Amino acid sequence: MGIYALTGGATGIGAELKRQLIERGDEVITVDIKEGDIVADLSTDAGRQAAIDGISARAPDGLDGFIPCAGLPPVAKPVSLIARVNYFAVIATVEGLRDLLAKKRGAVLIVSSNSAPMVPADDPYVQDCLSGDEQKACAGIEERDGQTAYAGSKRAVTMWMRRHVVPYAAQGIRMNAVAPGITMTPLSEQVMEDEQLGAAMKQFGEMVPLGGVAQPPQIANVMSFLLSPAADFVCGSVFFVDGGSDAMLRNDEF
Ligand code: NAD
Repeated sequence: MGIYALTGGATGIGAELKRQLIERGDEVITVDIKEGDIVADLSTDAGRQAAIDGISARAPDGLDGFIPCAGLPPVAKPVSLIARVNYFAVIATVEGLRDLLAKKRGAVLIVSSNSAPMVPADDPYVQDCLSGDEQKACAGIEERDGQTAYAGSKRAVTMWMRRHVVPYAAQGIRMNAVAPGITMTPLSEQVMEDEQLGAAMKQFGEMVPLGGVAQPPQIANVMSFLLSPAADFVCGSVFFVDGGSDAMLRNDEF
C-alpha cells in the first residue's frame, strides 16, 4: 500500500487519520512536537527542516501523500505562533517535500477550517502570509487577535493551495483541502475553556444545521477518501465537513 507523511499525528484529527491509514494497510510517518517518528517544533526553521529531512530519509522512493495537519488554536500565545505553525510551517513542509511527492504522483491534503472564509482574502494579514514574509505577517498579527490569526491563517493556506494547484498538478501532485467545523479534540477543548472564545464557540456549535459537533473520525473519513485512489481526479477542492454551517452562513458562495 502507500506511504504517507503526517504532521500533528499525536492527537485529535491527525491521530485518527493515522489510525485509519494504518488500518487500511498504509505506512505513516508522523511529525509532532509531542511524540512521533520525528519530534520537531514546526514553528521554527530548524524544526521544519528536521521534518523534511526525517521524512526524506524514511521515504527515499517518494510519498503517496502528505498531510500537514499540525495546528494551534486561536487561544495560542504569542498570537504570531499561530501564523508560524498554521501557515508558514505548512507551506515550508509542502514545498520541501514536493519532489518526493512528485516521485509517486502523491496527494497533498491541507487542513483548513470552516472559519477560513470569515477573514476576507484582501485582509493585510492574509496578504502578508501569501507574500511569504513571515516576519511581517507575525509582527502584524501580534497587534490583532487570536481568532483573526487562526481563521486568517486557514484562509491564506487554502488560497495558497488553490494558487499552486496548476504547477503541482503538472508534476502529477493532487492538492486539496478539508475544512472541518468544530471537532472534539484537545484543540477545540482549549478554545471551549477560554472565557471569551469559549462562549462564542459553544454558541456557534448550537447553530450547526445537522446538530452537534464533529468527532475526529467524521473528519478523518473524508480525509482518507481524499487520499485514496477513489479520489484520483479530485484536485483543488475544498471539502467543508461541518454539518452544513458554511452553507448556512454563505448560501451563494462555493
Ligand atoms: P490537536 O491539538 O489534537 O492536534 C494538533 C496537533 O498539532 C497536536 O498533536 C500538536 O502537538 C501538534 N502541534 C502543535 N504545535 C506544533 C508545533 N509547533 N510543531 C509540531 N506539532 C505541533 O487538534 P486538532 O483539532 O486535531 O487539529 C488538527 C488540525 O485540524 C489543525 O490544523 C486544526 O487547525 C484543524 N481544525 C480543527 C478543528 C477543530 O474544531 N478541532 C476545526 C477546524 C480545523
